[in-house]
Amino acid sequence: MTKRRGLLLILSSPSGAGKTTLTRRLMDWDPAIRFSISATTRHPRPGETDGREYYFRSRTDFEQMVATGEMLEHAEVFGNFYGSPKAPVQSAMDEGRDTVFDIDWQGGQQIRNSSLGRDVVSVFVLPPSIAELERRLRGRGQDSEAVIAGRMAKSRDEISHWAEYDYVIVNTDLDAAFNDLVTVLQAERIRRDRQPDLADFVRGLNKEFEAR
Ligand code: ADP
Ligand code: 5GP
Repeated sequence: MTKRRGLLLILSSPSGAGKTTLTRRLMDWDPAIRFSISATTRHPRPGETDGREYYFRSRTDFEQMVATGEMLEHAEVFGNFYGSPKAPVQSAMDEGRDTVFDIDWQGGQQIRNSSLGRDVVSVFVLPPSIAELERRLRGRGQDSEAVIAGRMAKSRDEISHWAEYDYVIVNTDLDAAFNDLVTVLQAERIRRDRQPDLADFVRGLNKEFEAR
């Protein structure tokens, strides 16, 4: 069997809606999935490790990566720069592994409009309500009041891009939302154009008919 090309699963949402939680679960569900580790100029939160959640880089190093064409996309979010390194994505695709991206709408748009656009499956995650979104941001206990207020202010803008995505999941119940995400991935993996050997396979079926 020829390997199918890995697909690029882009998850976006307002901060706090549950992207990170869903992404982690997805990678436990299928350890072959690669997480696109972004580079960022923001400082690590407690518990975050360089090279695991993000590559934490200085502004100068980040700009260098952009200038040398190492980024598939990059954007400014909440006053910091974020970007997805290109090389790991390309090698995952060649190995037939899917890559999951936790990136904002600007990054989603750039990858969708790039030469890899046909390999993109995009999912927007909505919170059940704005009150619940705020509760989740606070409950995470990782950000100061000022940072939470900034994220809430930005969430309206992020949500305004929901219609640019292939799928939309309202993350009310985590198990149900995760189930929807897995359903999307499983269906996208068996799209006709993602199964490179189908024409040969059907030729084989026809030969079998002829031999009867
Ligand atoms: P994001 O990555 O979109 O910023 P997180 O995955 O960090 O969001 O989720 C924010 C907080 O909300 C976390 O504390 C997470 O455990 C919690 N959370 C995520 N999904 C749900 C859900 N369906 N119900 C209740 N809490 C949730
Ligand atoms: P956080 O600082 O909470 O980890 O992420 C803030 C926002 O930046 C989230 O909406 C996240 O999806 C987005 N983000 C993270 N990495 C990237 C990236 O590489 N590119 C883009 N465009 N956005 C990113």
